[in-house]
Amino acid sequence: MRTETISAKDLVGVYQAGSHHMVGDGFPVRNMIPGAGVEEQLSPFLMLDYMGPEEFSPTTRRLGVGEHPHRGFETVTIMYHGKVAHRDSTGSGGVIGPGDVQWMTAASGVVHEELHEKEFAEKGGLLEGVQLWVNLPKAFKMTAPRYQTLVDAEIPAVELEKGAGRVRVIAGEFRAVKGPAKTFSPVHLYDVRLTAGHRTELRLPEGFNSALFVLHGQVTVNGSHVVGEVELAVLGQKGERVSLEAKQDSTILVLSGEPIAEPIARYGPFVMNTRDEIIQAVQDYQAGKMGHLS
Ligand code: MN
Repeated sequence: MRTETISAKDLVGVYQAGSHHMVGDGFPVRNMIPGAGVEEQLSPFLMLDYMGPEEFSPTTRRLGVGEHPHRGFETVTIMYHGKVAHRDSTGSGGVIGPGDVQWMTAASGVVHEELHEKEFAEKGGLLEGVQLWVNLPKAFKMTAPRYQTLVDAEIPAVELEKGAGRVRVIAGEFRAVKGPAKTFSPVHLYDVRLTAGHRTELRLPEGFNSALFVLHGQVTVNGSHVVGEVELAVLGQKGERVSLEAKQDSTILVLSGEPIAEPIARYGPFVMNTRDEIIQAVQDYQAGKMGHLS
């Protein structure tokens, strides 16, 4: 009889926030990706900002980020607390609240604003979320923009064994349950809640770049490495298995994607393949070709 062994992924590093800064006047963020050396290991993921958690006082001011462009990638906003309103130059927009995800494909270019939702701002309260940037393969960088609102109720949750917690599947697949997000390259994105004292095992494809971002709590990865609150654990491409044991009730964002092996030229809100394409993006934005907010 032949037994097949599935090897564990190595934990290649644990990273703390690289910087704390404000995005516009409404989003205090801790930047987890890029970090020193993390970027190259995490294609197709370009950036991860952790917004808050922060308590906002009631205000009638519109806090957030005003009109700004993006081209060449996707912005994925995952809300845990509070509400954010979005509006873009294609006429799309909407409000996302706790448990909701906005998956915006900027592709050939959008201009948008991201603000605290009006009623949330007037009432005040806790804001907590993640914004993740996912690169697009060269073939899709100049396709039409697309906007996916994935509300809490349409994101399937897989209950883990023995009351260990649950895995909400935003994109890709977990134990044959598929997430609703449409992606341009293979990506698995899970919102994992693990109860203190429990463990579980995830399977993430060999060859994919993967990371675990612990928003809350503390987990032991593969029986030996402790990853704490607001830390990013980067896993190796080899192997398929990763075990998690919660030392405290934990909230973990799991990202895993097939690397996009193409050159990156990056300037602010534009992520293309060459410097010429970046210059073109700046010119197109300035010429109004990415549109305006009405
Ligand atoms: Mn934006």
